[in-house]
Amino acid sequence: MYLKGVGPARAAMLEAKGLRVVEDLLTYAPFRYEDRSNVKTIDQLAPGEMATVLAEVKSAKVSGFQRRHLGLFQAAFTDASRAVLMGKWFHGAYLADILTPGTKVALFGKVEFDSYSGNLGMMHPEYEILTADEDGDASLHTGRIVPVYEAAGKVTTRTLRTLTNRILESVAPSHEDPIPEHIRRSLKLQDRWSAIRALHFPPPDSDLRLLNAFRSPGQYRLIFEEFFWLECGLELKRAKARLEPGIAFALTDRVRQRIKEMLPFKPTRAQKRVLAEIAHDMEQPHPMYRLLQGDVGSGKTLVAAEAAIIAIENGCQVTVLAPTEILANQHYFYFKRLFQKLDYVTILVTGSLSAREKTQLKKLAAAGLAHIVVGTHALLEEDVQFKRLGLAIVDEQHRFGVEQRQALLEKGAGDKGVRPDVLVMTATPIPRTLALTMYGDLDVSIIDELPPGRKPIATQHVTEDHIEQVYSFLKQQVDAGRQAYVVYPVIEESETQAMKAAQKMHELLSRIVFPGIAVGLLHGKLPSAEKEAAMANFQRGITKLLVSTTVIEVGVDVPNATVMVIEQAERFGLAQLHQLRGRVGRGAEQSHCILVTGKMNETARERIRTLVDSSDGFHIAEMDMKLRGPGEFFGTRQSGVPALRIGSILRDPDVLEVARSEASAFVAHPPSEDLLRQAVAFIREHWQRRYGLVQVG
Ligand code: ADP
Ligand code: MG
Repeated sequence: MYLKGVGPARAAMLEAKGLRVVEDLLTYAPFRYEDRSNVKTIDQLAPGEMATVLAEVKSAKVSGFQRRHLGLFQAAFTDASRAVLMGKWFHGAYLADILTPGTKVALFGKVEFDSYSGNLGMMHPEYEILTADEDGDASLHTGRIVPVYEAAGKVTTRTLRTLTNRILESVAPSHEDPIPEHIRRSLKLQDRWSAIRALHFPPPDSDLRLLNAFRSPGQYRLIFEEFFWLECGLELKRAKARLEPGIAFALTDRVRQRIKEMLPFKPTRAQKRVLAEIAHDMEQPHPMYRLLQGDVGSGKTLVAAEAAIIAIENGCQVTVLAPTEILANQHYFYFKRLFQKLDYVTILVTGSLSAREKTQLKKLAAAGLAHIVVGTHALLEEDVQFKRLGLAIVDEQHRFGVEQRQALLEKGAGDKGVRPDVLVMTATPIPRTLALTMYGDLDVSIIDELPPGRKPIATQHVTEDHIEQVYSFLKQQVDAGRQAYVVYPVIEESETQAMKAAQKMHELLSRIVFPGIAVGLLHGKLPSAEKEAAMANFQRGITKLLVSTTVIEVGVDVPNATVMVIEQAERFGLAQLHQLRGRVGRGAEQSHCILVTGKMNETARERIRTLVDSSDGFHIAEMDMKLRGPGEFFGTRQSGVPALRIGSILRDPDVLEVARSEASAFVAHPPSEDLLRQAVAFIREHWQRRYGLVQVG
């Protein structure tokens, strides 16, 4: 970047923010605007108004400092009118080094009468230091609606304003607008140059509220543009991936017959619809990359089993990849039960097997004798081979990286270069458009309906000190013939700790609280046989209460269990709590979920509130994303997460929706091949690097 005022030091700080070229600075969006058009001298101020003054620090002091940062900072400001304005900042002791006497500042805030000193004052005004070389530019920083930028290292909002202004003054207005004209016209988009100008210099009659909501015409245009190119890039990438050679599975009558044989229930309408989407993909001679979304208990696994039959009946193998050993176990038992009737061979490969067992199982997979190979990351190891892999089912998308999925695909479908189909399942459903954006290379199917007979679960929050009430409720339910879970949802990594907590609780409940009731215990450290026994005893109603770690998070299905007690619920994520809750509400009786918590911080409180108020997986996932932030929610390994500059998936889902539908229409039916070629070239040049759309073309 060659720009007056940008030396190597500043350039480095700008670059750290992704601001490398002039274009980057021009599209660096202010995060807030202030109306500083009301510039006054101090003697003109009246209490109650919002105003800006240009003044100098006359004196300053910190008072009441038990701890330095807690001090009250007070400064007296004055200007040419000689009148005095007080500024006060609580916890402002740090300002003593910044607002030293003689410093020139612009102050912006609400004018109040300071009865203590008899002067006018401002509480916590926004301030900006007026440095000598920029003093002449005062009109840039006051007297108008002023943009406020996030500082880039030590490059302040003020400097950014100056730099942006310099650029706008020195470059010729560009009337090029890469967004296809028919789209600009139909959406009445502002032209690019005016939008960029207005971003940094909002016209005087701009609506401040619209600006701060990122909905001024200029901001809308730029947000749309960012989303539009991103979505075009994703569409192109998706289209290209669909052209790779894959297996065209035949959906014959025999396949349909086998699926019918397997099905323990009548599929819901939603299950039928998504199976049709999946089957259609599987029939194509290209690989399927599909995300199957659905709430806890919506019956995703059953649909996955149907897809597996299609592959197996076509002479292929299926692999099921789960993020944890416990989940892999559960899938194994679930599939084994479903496929017994069909005489399929189902095997489980996990890290905890002995070397000998592993070798044997691997042989079965490599020889094509195992139809379904369920497992954890252990499956990704190089020496796990298939004779002819046709379908990979991956559970829980966001715990696996794109690369890991790739490793699975490399295992090949027998013929060179032919890729197996991929079906990814997630119980953290998000709106379709968002899913298509965040899981860029996947198509999306959504199960938006629960199997019949599911009853809403009454969810309650109880603090630890009222645990007796929970116990007496449990007693009452058991006396009425019901069963209950008591769960310690301690985080994966500390299964040992969870096990100890569960063991202790088991002791307490079985010996002291409920001496007359059979209480089972289940945790991940038990030998498989004991685990199976504990589950079986509960399933048969021999044990009435099951104390457990998150082993039961998924897959356990006991309709007579009507109560889910979750201890230390404040320590767990929304998705996990929602999953656990999904273990009850499967029978005819009213079910309950009781969230027991200790001390909570504000986000934990918000999580608990969300669960008490809602049972809708889509809403819960959205809250989860808001509370954790999109980056954390989607996981750092999910390299598809785009680094957006002005658009925000949380704030602008409406614009994203419009941009997506325009982009997919444009890519599918470009008005001319030329326009599409131009767009591809444009994306290559401007967006590929930023969004990692490496394979566009
Ligand atoms: P998910 O994987 O989406 O959480 P599952 O596939 O594990 O859901 O299904 C949850 C429970 O509902 C399982 O016990 C499953 O057997 C049952 N189920 C699935 N589909 C149906 C259906 N169409 N009718 C009745 N029960 C169903
Ligand atoms: Mg499941």
